[in-house]
Amino acid sequence: MPRTRRRGRRQDPEVARLRRVALDAAAAGLYVFPVKPGGKFPAVPRHSADRCRERGVCAAGHQGWEQRATRDRAQICRWWSGDESARFNVGIACGPSGIVVIDLDTSTEPLPDWGGATTGREVLDQLTAGHGQTLPETYSTMTPTDGEHLYYRLPEGLELRNTHGGHGHSLGPLIDTRAGGGFVVGAGSVRPEGAYLVAEHGQIAELPEWLTSVLTPPPPAAPRQGEPLALPTRRANAYVAAILAGETAAVEQAPKGQRQITLLNAARTLGRLVGGGELDADNAHALLLDAAAVHIGVDGFTAAEAERTITRALAYGARAPRRIDRRHSTADAQGPAEGGEAS
Ligand SMILES: [Zn+2]
Repeated sequence: MPRTRRRGRRQDPEVARLRRVALDAAAAGLYVFPVKPGGKFPAVPRHSADRCRERGVCAAGHQGWEQRATRDRAQICRWWSGDESARFNVGIACGPSGIVVIDLDTSTEPLPDWGGATTGREVLDQLTAGHGQTLPETYSTMTPTDGEHLYYRLPEGLELRNTHGGHGHSLGPLIDTRAGGGFVVGAGSVRPEGAYLVAEHGQIAELPEWLTSVLTPPPPAAPRQGEPLALPTRRANAYVAAILAGETAAVEQAPKGQRQITLLNAARTLGRLVGGGELDADNAHALLLDAAAVHIGVDGFTAAEAERTITRALAYGARAPRRIDRRHSTADAQGPAEGGEAS
């Protein structure tokens, strides 16, 4: 590309390196934007869309990092140019890039409900095995604080938002997901603690179907006749909600031949929560029946059979009550102003 040599304007080699990182990411289809030098927060205006005063760069509509993220080579070269003040880390905006990044953290405190796991990787492996699945190989990175970022392409037409470890439609504790409204810092970026490195080279795999459905919020439940709308996930602790989401997804996706045992195990698990006072028995019953509904009438799976299994397994589970230890469930933390990225 033609370049005008300007006298007295030093080209910082580290800026040139980071520009290469940004250009490579863009060439791989990712939308990039500048992140503060040596940091992990956006270097573009920090206010969120709902606080936008529509001035300055936002005059013609909000222009946060997500809107300004680009694959345009010229814009990338403008951002990453000049002296060391332009040593921006490379932010990757997940929404525009059509990706979801699974962000696996670590903890010094073992998770009792996950066999003493101390990493999001262990939780994810248990979750994957619990669904009878394996994870496809995909592009991944390591963060300076021993975290892992697994990149997945979203299926065409699907949009997801961020989730936060153990809350709502998240995968589990120590696991965040970054999608629409979220970003990650890309490999090649640096922080005082160390560098972001590529862990697994190669293509970004498509998000597996079972993960897609765990991460997809269900359509709002229709109120039953004569009953007020009471979503169990609203009332339950978010941690309980995550368990519900996992168990009901497992039931819905159970392959032929494992439908009964999956339903049985899910009902026992929820039964334990009912016994522990974490969950209302009628709600648990209704949720499980809803989840099993996709199988009813298919290959001899009957409603009566599902009812019986649920009733019995709930009662069985309730005899071994399980309480959620709330010391391990943190307040629903929000990211930085515009979604953002965990360490
Ligand atoms: Zn704005």
